[in-house]
Amino acid sequence: MGEIVVKNNTVARVHYTGTLPDSGEVFDSSEGRDPLTFLVGHGKMIPGFERELMGAKIGERRTFTLAPEDAYGQPIDEAIMDVPRAQFAMIEEQTELEVGMQLITQLPHGPAPFIVKALTDESVTADFNHKLAGESLTFSVEVVELREADESEIAHGHAHGPGGVEH
Ligand code: ZN
Repeated sequence: MGEIVVKNNTVARVHYTGTLPDSGEVFDSSEGRDPLTFLVGHGKMIPGFERELMGAKIGERRTFTLAPEDAYGQPIDEAIMDVPRAQFAMIEEQTELEVGMQLITQLPHGPAPFIVKALTDESVTADFNHKLAGESLTFSVEVVELREADESEIAHGHAHGPGGVEH
């Protein structure tokens, strides 16, 4: 058997730092946390992230920049909607609504964060696009652990064990 590398149906644990290439601002990092754990080849990650790590060995570090299409996509108009302001009455009892603030609402498929894009007396314009939609993203990633997935992980479509789904 050769040395294991990142490929479909392996479980990778990685440390990563994501920055915006223009400003250098760090938008996410696993520094100080457990490594990110994922089953490769099952759509768990943004598309370019896995592609750029294919073939990497344990201990290898790769740095790459993804176009928006390989990351969170472009923002779409359909994800921006006007909601009657009356629906925010409970929130407004506790805090003042402001343009630019992030709130979370419960939708049938789960919690959905959105940004308040505009406000009138009657309505709130809610932007449900991912906050990184439209952005190119630079990642520096180090593979810290790597192993073959077992049958149940492949059947379930996610990693088990440390950092994975526990059930
Ligand atoms: Zn499972």
